Amino acid sequence: MLGSCRSQDGWVGLALWIAAAVWIGVCPGGLTQLEPAEPIGGLFAQRSALASDKTRLPESVSAQRITAAGIRRLEGKHLILYTDLPPDPELDVLPEVFDQAFEPFCSYFALDPEKYSQWRMTGRLMREPERFRQAGLLPADLPKFANGFTKSYDFWIYEQPTAYYRRHLMLHEGVHGFMITLLGSCGPTWYMEGVAELLATHRWEDGKLLVKYLPRSSEEVPMWGRVKIVRQAAQQRGLLSVEQLIRLVPQISGENELYGWSWALAAFLDSHPRYQSAFRQMVGWVRDGRFTERFFTLLGENRCLLDEEWKLFVDEICYGYDFSRCAIQFPLGRPIPPEGVNIRVQADRGWQASGWQVQAGRTYLLTASGRYQVAQQPKIWWCEPNGVSIQYYRGRPLGMLLAAIRPEQNESSAQPLPQSHGPGSGAAFSNRWLFSDVSDGQPSGSLLDRLGSPPKPSFGADGGRPLPDGSGRQLFVSWPERSGLAGAALAPAAVQQARTGLLDPIPVGLQARLTPKVSGTLYFRINESPAQLHDNVGEVVVYVKLDE
Ligand SMILES: [Zn+2]
Repeated sequence: MLGSCRSQDGWVGLALWIAAAVWIGVCPGGLTQLEPAEPIGGLFAQRSALASDKTRLPESVSAQRITAAGIRRLEGKHLILYTDLPPDPELDVLPEVFDQAFEPFCSYFALDPEKYSQWRMTGRLMREPERFRQAGLLPADLPKFANGFTKSYDFWIYEQPTAYYRRHLMLHEGVHGFMITLLGSCGPTWYMEGVAELLATHRWEDGKLLVKYLPRSSEEVPMWGRVKIVRQAAQQRGLLSVEQLIRLVPQISGENELYGWSWALAAFLDSHPRYQSAFRQMVGWVRDGRFTERFFTLLGENRCLLDEEWKLFVDEICYGYDFSRCAIQFPLGRPIPPEGVNIRVQADRGWQASGWQVQAGRTYLLTASGRYQVAQQPKIWWCEPNGVSIQYYRGRPLGMLLAAIRPEQNESSAQPLPQSHGPGSGAAFSNRWLFSDVSDGQPSGSLLDRLGSPPKPSFGADGGRPLPDGSGRQLFVSWPERSGLAGAALAPAAVQQARTGLLDPIPVGLQARLTPKVSGTLYFRINESPAQLHDNVGEVVVYVKLDE
């Protein structure tokens, strides 16, 4: 569902129920009207999808009435799709696309696809909603929505300008339906929309679907636009910490901004080797009111690094962002000895800790040498530490050696990056080949375009509150005052607000004198986009000594 949520202070009976329905309709998302919640047993409640069938809309509409309204019925294994659009290969293949998404979705959410083999949604792809109303396929009490709406096993989407975005919207709603019917909740808004965006961003090529795709260019995902959205939003809002962003989500109401941020955060957490394992465990907690706080707690020592690496990602967000190569190790530095030190900097990585400290007010001479490759196509480009002046990145020559000083904080005990960047762990994720994978050095990318005006939500999804009808059923709309956070300050304000020195690169080139204003560890990288590191080869050697 797209939409933000605002908190309410208590039940106000039916009015609130109505407000909930209206809210949920805003985004491509769903109303989460469920059977009585069960205790979370094991990873997930072992409830059969069919057991919740009574939440389906009744299939009382006659085929004759549907045909008379000019609506076609397309049927797959996991989706029945009604549409008033004329036959077209791009349209008629949609149930097949949906079917191919089912196993990867099961894999991501650690569900056995065999057990849920009968799971199926009913969708409506509409150009003229009135036809669906006439045919009885668009209930009059459905709230207005901009692009899509999901209610347990049913979704409604409007026709989109591109085939990519049409599939994307269908898969996005499918993730909501999947989570609400099989997991019992979608989690707080940031997670609900983030995971829907993450999994819906896809590649469809030669009849094969790849979900959770990290696009390498805007041409791969027409109308998706998430990279641009986040770039523009960050220019306006500044670089927010993760916690600041999560707390902001309920107030975001502009265009597709919510989708952009939700995708970016989910893609970052799901792709970054330091946070991936913890993030993927969250699928088991979607019915836990302390959802987000639990995640932060699980990060432990790495919690202090999260905001720093997140801000670096947002600062340079691009199609094909290479999370693995840009992941940073943060060892404590040692003082530079009088004879100086040689430091090796790999051309195919982002920021690299030198392991050596510089002191505020002292002057150092940095001398760089080496020849390295910064591109392979259309031919190999060789480069030296002053960079190549025929191409620039962020106002400086491509390949130029950059330095930064990172003041030491007390997170030196942060866990090192794992050796392998496996998704989650164990057999639950054994179908990983179905996903795109950034740990092989291939880039990642951005996400979706806005689907319409964001909701003017009255409150948000999740958490589970009893419906006011006394039935004991629960409405899993979350009270965003929590956003899965219990309200505790989860990271020191100073950490959240800190602007890491790695955001302020210092040009070095072949030689530079450096008199730092703050003491800290020296970091180096070459000047190139985080999407273009994979074809680099070679290293720079930097000799650093006191120049006094
Ligand atoms: Zn949604």
